[in-house]
Amino acid sequence: MTQVPLRPAVAHLPAYVPGARVPVGAAAFKLSSNENPFPPLASVVAAICDAAQDVNRYPDMYATELTEAIAADLGVDPAQVVTGTGSVAVLNHVLNAVVNAKDEVVYPWRSFEAYPIAVALAHAEGVPVPVRADGRLDLPAMAAAVTPRTRAVLVCTPNNPTGPAVRADELRHLLEQVPGNVLVVLDEAYVEFVRDPDVPDALAVLAKHPNVVVLRTFSKAYGLAGLRVGFAVARPRLAAGIRAASTPFGVSHVGQMAALASLRAKDELLERVETVVQERARMLAGLRVQGWTVPDSEANFVWLPLGERAAAFAQEATRAGVLVRPFAGDGVRVSVGEPEATAVLLEVTESFRR
Ligand code: PMP
Repeated sequence: MTQVPLRPAVAHLPAYVPGARVPVGAAAFKLSSNENPFPPLASVVAAICDAAQDVNRYPDMYATELTEAIAADLGVDPAQVVTGTGSVAVLNHVLNAVVNAKDEVVYPWRSFEAYPIAVALAHAEGVPVPVRADGRLDLPAMAAAVTPRTRAVLVCTPNNPTGPAVRADELRHLLEQVPGNVLVVLDEAYVEFVRDPDVPDALAVLAKHPNVVVLRTFSKAYGLAGLRVGFAVARPRLAAGIRAASTPFGVSHVGQMAALASLRAKDELLERVETVVQERARMLAGLRVQGWTVPDSEANFVWLPLGERAAAFAQEATRAGVLVRPFAGDGVRVSVGEPEATAVLLEVTESFRR
């Protein structure tokens, strides 16, 4: 039978595996998707309910009010901000705006699982560069992987799933070595959780380097993962290109209004982030007391480099009531959530100790 052939790149795409979901009624902690453990604020729910009145209309295509609020919050020009259906979609738009067929895109690995998919869908060739044994990105190796065919370098900072963030001197060296016609994407989905003082302010880096794009999201610190709102910050010319390559009406009216309400409640939401940061310290300390070697984390998750035992550990954790995210043969990522969840997790890690 004659069939419509899939693009070979699509037929061979690696799967994006979503974190395990909590079965309805199950008493389980969901630590599998780096979500915010707190329920939405009442003010955000009110904004969502109000916005629901208008869903028979298309949303503001360019999310004007939200874009202006993000720009004011970050101290940039609104022309530099492009919103989209979560930062994962914005990444696709960024690549589609700059990458030509057969260009190379350098990215760290293991890192965010959307990268190889986004690169393949952009008709580009991925050049994965191994992350160091300590979970840090190997920026010198990434710079060395740049060739005349390279069009973009993806920098995940903090790196999902290993946790460390790129430091200022490392990034400075990378940007010195990468030619100005190669885009450097700083994926900062977890930036609000960073406490390492050596991590640079990406917006200051962008002010100096026109080839930089910063990706951010309302999914993590702002707790809106279910509404899909992310954005890029870039120089206006690049931002206009990303906007042109974006899915029309990508952010719903409900999402726009919820993100605006979240920005208004920023201080309260960042207090919640601080409790997660403190819980992260407790989780890391508890693991290290048990003898685990785990990378420092600047994000809302920690990485257990379990190698071949990753899947078995995840099963054990599920039995104990915590859903975690295994990466077969490599390790397990555990999101930081409620203190009760940390307690259960540490019981599992204690029984699983090497
Ligand atoms: N970047 C990184 C590094 C992530 O871990 C994630 C979410 N897992 C995203 C981007 C995408 O987040 P969202 O699409 O929800 O904004």
